[in-house]
Amino acid sequence: MSEHKLLMIPGPIEFEPEVMQRMSSPSLSHVDPSFIVSFGNALSYMKKVWKCPDGQPFIIAGTGTLAMEMAVANLVECGDHVLVISTGYFGERYANILKRLGAEVDVLNAKIGAVVSEEVIAAQLEKKNYKLMTLTHVDTSTGVKSDAKQFGALGKKYNVLTVLDGVCSVAGEEIQQQKWDIDVVLTASQKAVGVPAGLALLMVSPQAIEVFKNRSSPVVSYYSDWSNWLPIMEAYSHGKPSYFGTPAVHLVLALEKSLELIVKEGLEIRFNRHETLAQAFRKALQVLGFGFIAKDECAANTLSAIVFPENLDGAKFIQSVAASGVIVAGGLLADRKSTYFRVGHMGSVKAIDLVTTLEAIENGLLSCDHSFEKGVGTKRFLELI
Ligand SMILES: *Cc1c(COP(=O)(O)O)cnc(C)c1O
Repeated sequence: MSEHKLLMIPGPIEFEPEVMQRMSSPSLSHVDPSFIVSFGNALSYMKKVWKCPDGQPFIIAGTGTLAMEMAVANLVECGDHVLVISTGYFGERYANILKRLGAEVDVLNAKIGAVVSEEVIAAQLEKKNYKLMTLTHVDTSTGVKSDAKQFGALGKKYNVLTVLDGVCSVAGEEIQQQKWDIDVVLTASQKAVGVPAGLALLMVSPQAIEVFKNRSSPVVSYYSDWSNWLPIMEAYSHGKPSYFGTPAVHLVLALEKSLELIVKEGLEIRFNRHETLAQAFRKALQVLGFGFIAKDECAANTLSAIVFPENLDGAKFIQSVAASGVIVAGGLLADRKSTYFRVGHMGSVKAIDLVTTLEAIENGLLSCDHSFEKGVGTKRFLELI
């Protein structure tokens, strides 16, 4: 394998060595007694990490997009009214998924870099009766974080089911699913949860499970149908084997380990670590002349969407950062792709990773003939952590 470059994109992230060790365990049957224990542990750790002791966890082979689709495929029926609150690329994706399922979809779009305000959401909920609404907690295209607690409260007040796309936030940003009355919080393994890509993870409230059980039409997707998966999750959490589709055995072993490490670190400590590092990183980038897509008051702690200084050749810059050993991601918003880049700082991220990233960014600026005092970014970062 060629020399490892530090992977600082918004998923997949750098994984803990103990998690990677699980990926190289000897092969194991999905009904082996030790695997049943691991699967059960992973399900119960999820309730702790999601702060949802009464929720129903699902661990399914698939990506975050499957988790998005599964949540609404089971709760929405053809012709139902659904509200999508969008802060970028993944809000648009949710609207597309819902339309494909035959829902009547209204979208509230935030201005780029901002959130949709509580007043605007409430006004829409006053105007029309919705069965369900979705919110992207952290939109990975803009680095905007929306208010998940307020979202849950609005859902409760207006009696609307709430689905939070937490793919870029679960285990990196504070979420108290049960206390905040959110019906579904979903994510994927490769982001702040810290496991290689391939698992769709959902936590569903008892109320949402009731809504699912009272559907009048069958779920349109066979693979997504919770009727097939609920007995499996229930069996594994009671220490019994069961089969519908073969579980991603090694990913589940890795998930058990990663969630164990997350719980061991302590959620509050973990969220504070993300916040301290994110803020110091952005202050350092400011000194170097960069701007941000997200406004300060709604900037995420799990990633930054960073605007290039005027006249910088973005493609050349990103290449040069990679040549210095750090991989960052390009822009994702179609209309301004080349004006910004993205850095993921979630999961296992440590101060040293961001120092390495800032050094590579400074090298990138130098190679693009951008004038600044070498070392000022790193220095600012170290003053702030
Ligand atoms: C990455 C991401 C997704 C999609 O996840 P995949 O695993 O790529 O399918 C959805 N929503 C958000 C907010 C994301 O960051």
